[in-house]
Amino acid sequence: MRTTRVHVDAGLTAGLELDLPEGAANHLARVLRLVEGDGCVLFNGDGHDYPARLVAVGKRQVRVAVDAGIPVENESPLPVVLLQGVARGEKMDLILQKATELGVVAVHPLWSQRSEVKLEGARADKRHAHWQSVVVSACEQSGRARVPVVAAPLPLTRVLQGLPAGGRRLTLDPGGGHCLGSLAVDPGEPVLLAVGPEGGWSPRDREQLHDAGFEGLRLGPRILRTETAGLAAIAALQARLGDFA
Ligand code: SAM
Repeated sequence: MRTTRVHVDAGLTAGLELDLPEGAANHLARVLRLVEGDGCVLFNGDGHDYPARLVAVGKRQVRVAVDAGIPVENESPLPVVLLQGVARGEKMDLILQKATELGVVAVHPLWSQRSEVKLEGARADKRHAHWQSVVVSACEQSGRARVPVVAAPLPLTRVLQGLPAGGRRLTLDPGGGHCLGSLAVDPGEPVLLAVGPEGGWSPRDREQLHDAGFEGLRLGPRILRTETAGLAAIAALQARLGDFA
């Protein structure tokens, strides 16, 4: 049976004992019915897995003891940062889950002129927290020990203003000038990949992306849904330049 991985938001080290967060405690004790002495693996996003044992299982609390810290080497040599037009409902969860499995290092949800979804205030905060939890779950399941950061959703202009300098900047666009076969990327150079929302990019979005150094990349002759386009591009990039080879 595969050992369950649990994300904890705390510093971890061999010999430490700690109570698991309520959700994880409930899952281990009541869903998986683990008992004292059973093992699990903790991770906190620092690049290590921490094998641990359950030392006390109560009604609401599960206490674990950390046995060791083991470096995990499964990050792609191709760092991909996804700038994703916010998609409707569960499509965004799907994009975040699969993009995490495919190895992205960060996601910037954005809205642009033709976005069908725009979030503000408490709704935006709630959705943002939910998206980060989707990414954490995808790390638990896929064995990643580095957790991609999901930035707060912002308008395209503000996302572009806040990007760190550099990186190979690509915007998925059916009319883009590049195709993947001829794309050159320096080894280790991060790829920043912008994907339009359901309604696509407007002329003004394209201008802003162009001014920020993004070059158009087309994925064949068919129009893909936004949730297909980014994931297909990340998989193809990992196959050509990352760790799918
Ligand atoms: N009618 C819109 C258009 O022509 O831009 C379609 C938008 S598509 C549903 C949503 C996003 O997916 C696009 O903004 C683009 O980023 C990406 N996309 C879809 N098909 C693509 C393709 N063949 N090549 C590159 N990007 C594509």
